[in-house]
Amino acid sequence: MKIGIIGGGQLGMMMAESAIKQGHTIISLDPNKFCSITKYSSKHIVKNYDDKEAFKELCEESDVITYEFENVNVDLVKKYEHKIPQKSKALSITQNRLTEKSFVKSLGIPVTEFYKYEGYIKEYPVIIKTTSGGYDGKGQYKIDSQDEVDQFIYNKENEYIVEHLVSFDYEISVILTRDVHGNIDIQPLTKNTHKNGILYISETKFLISNNAVEKAIQHAKEIIIALNYIGTMAIEFFVKGDHIVFNEYAPRPHNSGHNTIEGSTTSQFDNHIRAITGKKIENSSLIANNFMINVLGQDMKFVQTQEKYDECTLHMYHKTETKENRKMGHITCLSVNSKKLDKIKNDIIRSSHE
Ligand code: AMP
Repeated sequence: MKIGIIGGGQLGMMMAESAIKQGHTIISLDPNKFCSITKYSSKHIVKNYDDKEAFKELCEESDVITYEFENVNVDLVKKYEHKIPQKSKALSITQNRLTEKSFVKSLGIPVTEFYKYEGYIKEYPVIIKTTSGGYDGKGQYKIDSQDEVDQFIYNKENEYIVEHLVSFDYEISVILTRDVHGNIDIQPLTKNTHKNGILYISETKFLISNNAVEKAIQHAKEIIIALNYIGTMAIEFFVKGDHIVFNEYAPRPHNSGHNTIEGSTTSQFDNHIRAITGKKIENSSLIANNFMINVLGQDMKFVQTQEKYDECTLHMYHKTETKENRKMGHITCLSVNSKKLDKIKNDIIRSSHE
């Protein structure tokens, strides 16, 4: 099949790698002529994502379309929905944090207390976030007192959501895929640690109560079914003891699932491509405990350090410019020996400070 991919970053690139392995060809759309996916595309359309003519060209030339990020123009997705198995529902709900949290709450799933910012805050501390457009911690602020509010809410044009601060032991994500035949696959759960709002490391080895795991998986299934979503998505939860609280979902493969390329019997990208091309998805199970660490612009030393270990695999995203906080690549490290896994992790992390 010819698969059209909207967005040519690392997620689009890794989708393309899977698609090509499964015998498909790629057409991509991205305003950057030199983005990560171009190495894999038989045709790359250099236009904005919401350029109507470019979107039309992509849809007309592709058998099926997917996207790698959630700020795609919903009206265009609706217009060409017959070619887009992920459809517009999951996308339109998640484009606004208020509608996303209201939707999940309406399913009876625990969500932190939230409300639209209308000039006052009921109690502190809270996190204020722009309702749309924020990612990797951008557009969000922890606020401890009234004095801080005006400092952050300076753009009166923006709409903000106020969320109570959740106290949690872990952040986890459930990466799951649903196909047109009604099958749902759940990837091994990961614990995610963020730094400055950006995912730093995802690990499969962590202690979490069975109750919390069961609830997270159950709620993730309820969400994907309620969204009538086809493809891979990620659902993030906060965990405290046996309790879980929904944070957000992303209707696409996710950074916290990159470890599945080496660490699972079927990766998130392989299953996403299977699902959107109408095939039956495969069961994913853990091959060995692993961690995935992002190589940000300031952490390029990780690259040399991981070379010492056969357990590590490096994925670079072929980006032309190295910048602070920019995701340049990632490393996945797999081992049945948990002490070895910890040693390698610490060695890699330490190398950035040397
Ligand atoms: P988000 O963009 O909503 O995923 O937020 C980025 C990160 O900020 C999350 O992964 C958490 O580490 C933290 N965060 C966001 N919302 C909350 C909250 N309501 N309570 C506690 N931490 C939060």
